[in-house]
Amino acid sequence: MRETDPSVHTRGHRNEVTVPKNRPRESLRSDDEAQPTDAYLLSEDGALARFATRRDGLTTEEVDRHRATYGDNVIVQVHSAPLVLRYLRQFKDWMIVLLLVCAAITAYLGDALTSGVLVLLVLINTSIGFLQEYRSGKTMDALQHLSLSLTQVMRDGRLTELDSTELVVGDVVRLTEGAAVPADIRLIETSAFSTNEFALTGESDPTKKYSHAIVTEVIVAERHNTAHAGTTVATGEAMGVVVATGTATELGRIAQLADSAPPTTSPLQREMGHIGRIITYAAIVLALVLLVLAVWADLPLHAAVLFAIGFASAVIPQGLPAEVNTALAQAAAALAKRKALVKRLSAVETLGSTQVICTDKTGTLTKNEMTVTQLVMGGRNYVVRGTGYEPTGEIDRMPSGSAVDRTGDLERLRRFLRVGALASNARLLPPDESHPGWHILGDPTEGALLTVAAKCGVDLTRERTDESKVREFPFDSARKLMTTIRERADGTLTAYVKGAPESVVAKARRIDDDGVVRPITDADRAAFLGVHLARSDLGLRNLAYAARAASAEDVAATDPNTVERDLVLLGLVSMVDPIRDEVPDAMRRALGARVKVNIITGDFSRTAEVIARQAGLDDDNGLTVVTEAELRAMSDDDVVAHALAGGTVFSRVDPTDKTRIVDLVKRAGMVVAVTGDGINDAPALRHADIGVAMGVSGTDVAKEAAEIVLLDDSFSTLVRAVEQGRVIYANISKGVVSCLTSNAAELVVNIASLILATFAGLPLAINVMQILAIDLLGELLPIAALGRDPEEGRVMRQAPRDPKSRIVNVRSIRDLLYAGAIIGVLAIANFLLLFDRSGSDPFAGPVDPALIAQATTITYVTVLVCQLFNITQRRSARGLFTRYIFTNPTYWLACAVGVTIMLVIVYVPVVQAMFKTAPLGPLDWAFVLLAAVIFVAFREIGRLTRNSARRVASRPRSGEPAGLSTL
Ligand code: ADP
Ligand code: MG
Repeated sequence: MRETDPSVHTRGHRNEVTVPKNRPRESLRSDDEAQPTDAYLLSEDGALARFATRRDGLTTEEVDRHRATYGDNVIVQVHSAPLVLRYLRQFKDWMIVLLLVCAAITAYLGDALTSGVLVLLVLINTSIGFLQEYRSGKTMDALQHLSLSLTQVMRDGRLTELDSTELVVGDVVRLTEGAAVPADIRLIETSAFSTNEFALTGESDPTKKYSHAIVTEVIVAERHNTAHAGTTVATGEAMGVVVATGTATELGRIAQLADSAPPTTSPLQREMGHIGRIITYAAIVLALVLLVLAVWADLPLHAAVLFAIGFASAVIPQGLPAEVNTALAQAAAALAKRKALVKRLSAVETLGSTQVICTDKTGTLTKNEMTVTQLVMGGRNYVVRGTGYEPTGEIDRMPSGSAVDRTGDLERLRRFLRVGALASNARLLPPDESHPGWHILGDPTEGALLTVAAKCGVDLTRERTDESKVREFPFDSARKLMTTIRERADGTLTAYVKGAPESVVAKARRIDDDGVVRPITDADRAAFLGVHLARSDLGLRNLAYAARAASAEDVAATDPNTVERDLVLLGLVSMVDPIRDEVPDAMRRALGARVKVNIITGDFSRTAEVIARQAGLDDDNGLTVVTEAELRAMSDDDVVAHALAGGTVFSRVDPTDKTRIVDLVKRAGMVVAVTGDGINDAPALRHADIGVAMGVSGTDVAKEAAEIVLLDDSFSTLVRAVEQGRVIYANISKGVVSCLTSNAAELVVNIASLILATFAGLPLAINVMQILAIDLLGELLPIAALGRDPEEGRVMRQAPRDPKSRIVNVRSIRDLLYAGAIIGVLAIANFLLLFDRSGSDPFAGPVDPALIAQATTITYVTVLVCQLFNITQRRSARGLFTRYIFTNPTYWLACAVGVTIMLVIVYVPVVQAMFKTAPLGPLDWAFVLLAAVIFVAFREIGRLTRNSARRVASRPRSGEPAGLSTL
């Protein structure tokens, strides 16, 4: 039952019946609990009474009582699977399955010890995996639930802003455009109010809402007097009473039925899964080949199988997926501390590859603390003193400088400034418990207009009640106008219009010329826009005011253009919006990191250019201003060229243009981050690789569409997030390559050992237990700690990495095979040299088992020690010899623990028996260290020659991708 006569309903609330202020509240008895579904059947006042509330809201004490009766406004997410099941899911991993198969075979062969250790390894791995998944899940949950949504609510007779979770049934709330509806709300006053209900009902067009009662029972989609949780406000504003919160809302019921959406995985997580699978298959095939070889080499079947198993478990990089997961979650937590809230783990990774940033101007580069400093009214100029929203400060006539009070035009100024106030929605509020100073609810631009009106003595509350709003055409960034129609007690209707000067002038037919209204001439228009230009060149943001007598048709109009016509142009206000202090520095960092920064703004080109210069864009880095007309005339290729060149200021842009720019940049294969705050920004945010919403000034709609929310709105926070994304990607690369290097080393040791065994009859150089110890001490432990490596200065001096680049690519594979081969050869050399030093010749025939134990021990220790040096060296692009190496205490703790356990394995008798090790003497250790020194020397020399070669090769080009240079 969609209503067809909006004028009746939108104005309906004005015929309100006065409610007794303090109704008895017998309806709160718990045996008579109000049924939320009933509320739409009641009248406005019936609904208020039903929930024991009034138009001026609940008192603090009533709130407590209602909270006790109806509960909190939170939807407790039923976790899809119990913990046990989530733990068992870890076993779905191929690598784990393979290890278990190995454990079963060894158990069957009667080697209980190896089997036990394999099972232990599986348990350690799955537990670490589970714990990290659990923890990162918790981190993400916590981030999701960090309440992002504030609601305007009447409490103790005053309008304030509260966290939406603090709402209780009976609260009277105000809903404005772009807000997420925080609970199920029975509307009691509406003004051009409509909501997007897609999430709830699947209806894709906004649904108009009214406040009158519905007479019959209808389904949720037809309750046109109720705004439901989970929907958002598309247009207009409304007051309403909360009738259901949390799980009692329609959304809450659905949420409890539905399983939570599966977590999305990032490209890196997928890459790791992929690598893990490939290596596992390869390991199985190789292990079978080696098994055949080993049998052929006359090894007893039992030993051959054990050997193949040791090999397979050696090359499987079990720790990798968990490592990537943890590192990303850690980065997300670190980002939240730095005021960037990541809504999806994968965004952390994408951030690091950001190539183009398209940022807003207002609020992101600037403080969004608007103060009107100049006015033009009836051809006269005025300056306004004072800053912020405190309504004190003189208004002086220019150029004479005489105070307006003495010139006698104070009254006319008041009439002028009240136009801006009446055409606005924001509220100006005095200091209170939670705000030390005067503050606003709503749009800061409007806040500035209210403040200047109050400075001139306009009584905002009285003006708004004396002339009540009957219709609103909200501001939208395409029209760049906002209009309200208001009605005086005698029935006169007036349309009050404010907006971008060009838009207002284009719709003006008359002008207020020093108190006389006459038709506007082209000369008037030119003069007015001339002032606008001059003010813009000072970096001021301008709005023009206009008005017109309105009629009933205007009130009923659906198209704002039919109302915004034949206006009387009244004047111009200009406001400053200072640049954020931290922005120029952040801009330098972004440009240094070769990220292209463009500004997309709805503001005027001249104003935008001044701000762009203040933000640190200039002719040296290609500052170009593109106007709306130029943009529309531009070919797609030109738009891309401008955006990719960076430093482009797209001005007077509307949301469609913004989406077009984003789409084009994306189609050009670039990773683009886009900021936005309005409802209309949602498509651009969704289309971008990374949608970035403003946490403070952003609408809930924008926050929902975005992947990252900047809690302080600042551009510099975005740049820091990009930086963090790069750091974490670099850390993950180090970890992955380090881990695979040690696997390569084990591979080389095993193959060499098998060849020696097959063709020279030598004992095997390393046993399964020792290999497993290397996996734990040289991979899992230290690599998990790499996620905490701090940034190393250079990440922000490199070009963004190619988003298509992979950590495991030809270059890194070559590198890790090379490093692994060195370690392998050194370990085998130490193995052979040990026999040599002790005067026995293993090639000649069977040797003393004690000596074999010692020899395998030195193989094991050599691989492990070299691996620790390998990881440490890979931490910095500058190799081992830099101070950076001493950062990250967690890493050093992990190494210390690793070395201690290694020594326990070598020296503690009980443990020796398990690992078949024997104590090493000082000379043996000298050989181990010598191996490490040779390894480090090889790597450092390799690195230096590679670097100089690359420097020569890449000098004219724009540098190497960030992620790879850390290899
Ligand atoms: P931006 O956020 O990029 O600065 P907007 O789209 O918010 O751009 O604003 C564009 C222009 O519209 C401003 O320059 C101003 O003239 C006008 N404007 C901004 N806010 C309002 C408003 N609430 N009502 C009327 N006009 C506005
Ligand atoms: Mg804006």
